[in-house]
Amino acid sequence: MAKDSLKRVTENNIRNVRFVYCDPSGVIRAKGTTGSQFAGKVDEGIGLTRAQNAVNLFEDLVHVEGMEPVGEVRIVPDLDTYTELPWLDSTASVIGDLRWPDGTEWGGCTRTVLKRAIAKAAEFGIEIKAAFENEFYMAEGTRENPIPWANASCYSTAGLDRASAVMNDMIDNLTSQGYIVEQAINEYGNGQLEIVIKYDDALAAADNQVKFRDTIRGTAEVTHGLMASFSPKPYENEVGSGAHLHFSVWKGKHNLLYNKEDPTKISEFGASFIAGILEHLPALVALTCPSYVSFERLAPHAWAGSTVAWGYDNRECTVRVASPFKGREEQSTNIELKASDASANPYMALAGLIMAGLDGVQRGLTPPMPAHRDPELLSDEEKKACGVKPLPSSQLEALDLLENDSVLMDALGDLMGRCYLASRRAENAKAQANGLAWARANTFTVY
Ligand code: GLU
Ligand code: MG
Repeated sequence: MAKDSLKRVTENNIRNVRFVYCDPSGVIRAKGTTGSQFAGKVDEGIGLTRAQNAVNLFEDLVHVEGMEPVGEVRIVPDLDTYTELPWLDSTASVIGDLRWPDGTEWGGCTRTVLKRAIAKAAEFGIEIKAAFENEFYMAEGTRENPIPWANASCYSTAGLDRASAVMNDMIDNLTSQGYIVEQAINEYGNGQLEIVIKYDDALAAADNQVKFRDTIRGTAEVTHGLMASFSPKPYENEVGSGAHLHFSVWKGKHNLLYNKEDPTKISEFGASFIAGILEHLPALVALTCPSYVSFERLAPHAWAGSTVAWGYDNRECTVRVASPFKGREEQSTNIELKASDASANPYMALAGLIMAGLDGVQRGLTPPMPAHRDPELLSDEEKKACGVKPLPSSQLEALDLLENDSVLMDALGDLMGRCYLASRRAENAKAQANGLAWARANTFTVY
């Protein structure tokens, strides 16, 4: 997108360039440099203590061997991710990898976890394309007492009218950074919106999720004095917000999920990929629905999915095969993981999904029957045939399953695996000690 970033920093009088990364607990953080110093920092990066990635979303430094506050890493920017932030004056952001000072890979970098999964997929000769489909709430007031903003009926034009001033700014601010906005809708919840940007290669899709959240939050806060909440369940009595993860798997120009000859249009490869995801899903949700509040959202009959189940255009299934569009069937065939929310670190969520799918392909797994109804409403016999199983009901249960899933733990690597479990378990202990209302308030605008 922006290989000419060095030139643009000078030509556009950029005063501040942020070196951004997303930490394991899903918080987007950055250290900045000035426009005049940017060129000198592109190769060497900006220094960061190793301990910073052991600080979780409640700002607690968790003890992780290898991530003590002694020893430094660097945020080394990837210039392809350079964009100028339209809701601020003269400010740009570039996403970086966390590396050792000599430039080599550091095991505590979440972006590197995804790069390794992409490299693994490349060994199979395949590439993943993906997009996060985000819902979020707009609110006034305080995070302790948020008041939903611009309430209206789901998909109503009245809702679009009420939200239009803010929504149009969000669309403009995404578009001017080079993202293609495909949909912008007034969602079901009180003050809930959904904006969708186009899919991209896996690494870019995760980078886009970081930039997307920043753009929505920044436009709401800085330009309009409103809060945008990406919390998976910001209100007790309102529907949750998903960041459904859509993906397709490609070999050259061919979508490997698609088989024109099959009545379902899903290939054998696609079926195995789905089977791998279903097999790992109870553990995978520790990466895709990872926060304390995430488990409030995964309830039955809320279109978020609450069980391990898959189906064609079945919005109650955690894994939905989305129907393709007429005339571009191969191009548009994709699978949606609904058990995914915006409290996830997108690099780790996508890495986990890729490794789970590849495991299914490698082992030649076949999925159970697809569910033709809401899986919770199937008979016991049908549930068995469709492989319907409960998802973990809490963050701690999911973390224990993750710890015992060698495919996903290998994907994280030793340092990141230990860091992730320790950081999330500390989050859980604090949330439990302070209660759900406290956890909701303290994560309302953190993402
Ligand atoms: N809000 C639902 C969720 O939490 C999704 C509704 C929809 O399908 O758009 O995932
Ligand atoms: Mg939606």
